[in-house]
Amino acid sequence: MKIGFIGLGNMGGPMAANLAAAGHDVTGFDVAPAQVEGVSMVPTAQDAASGRDVVITMLPDGAILRQVAAEIIPSMAAGCGFIDCSTVDVDSARAVAADADAAGLLPVDAPVSGGVGGAVAGTLTFMAGGAPAAFALAEPLFGIMGQKAVHCGDSGAGQSAKICNNMILGATMIVTCEAFALADRLGLDRQKMFDVVSTSSGYSWTMNAYCPAPGVGPQSPSDNDYLPGFAAELMLKDLRLSQQAADSVDADTPLGAAAAALYAQFVEDEDGRGRDFSAMLPRFEGRKRGD
Ligand code: NAD
Repeated sequence: MKIGFIGLGNMGGPMAANLAAAGHDVTGFDVAPAQVEGVSMVPTAQDAASGRDVVITMLPDGAILRQVAAEIIPSMAAGCGFIDCSTVDVDSARAVAADADAAGLLPVDAPVSGGVGGAVAGTLTFMAGGAPAAFALAEPLFGIMGQKAVHCGDSGAGQSAKICNNMILGATMIVTCEAFALADRLGLDRQKMFDVVSTSSGYSWTMNAYCPAPGVGPQSPSDNDYLPGFAAELMLKDLRLSQQAADSVDADTPLGAAAAALYAQFVEDEDGRGRDFSAMLPRFEGRKRGD
């Protein structure tokens, strides 16, 4: 396939490289200088999009996605796929899909889970929203960049699934960290805490697969001085998107709201920026009740 790839950062770069390595003809564009193995860089977003069968975007946020979409949609031919893999607000995903649809394109919102490691290894999970024909066009490419793709529903469903998942992840990480800090003060050994919780009803991905306590459980960013991994500011972005979505549909999400507020405090006032989101544990360790 002829693929245009726009946004070749930490995630987009390796995703585009994997498509090129699989034999696809990939042109790339980024506003920052970028070099990706097997990808021919072009000077504008329109150049990356025109004459392509599919365009993939991997951009920082919804405002930038809207701007790039407005630039490229007029230069794409009817029947082409427009796959946005960025994590953006549901409203932007739906607005861009509606514009693409009106131009006869096949839009899919397909945010990912799996981080930079998954992008490099080609093991991402895609959660996709769009018409069945659009998903069918994108699916073989998801198979190269990832190991699983779930068609969640119509446009916006992929972003909805992503932010609901990450709202669970953020709140669960916080409670896992505060439980470890409580256990410390109760004199409970961390390994014993892990052995019990990871096989009891408090188990979770954050405890079992990504344990925030160094030296306990499988290897995780806590064993690497909390270098990300998944940075706290990216978790904050996703939690804010979940709250924006909750506002727009009048959903009551008190724990999601509390998680967003706590990560905001951690990132903006407590040097959490650039640390893994599991660094909530040393944060709680240093605090007292009522701090
Ligand atoms: P990044 O900042 O490394 O990459 C974004 C790229 O977009 C940058 O290279 C930037 O120069 C480029 N860009 C910005 N404006 C542009 C424009 N107008 N035209 C073309 N290129 C433009 O970010 P990332 O970590 O690769 O994340 C990309 C998206 O994936 C985000 O939406 C993020 O939330 C999501 N995501 C990231 C991770 C992760 O672990 N990094 C995991 C899952 C999802």
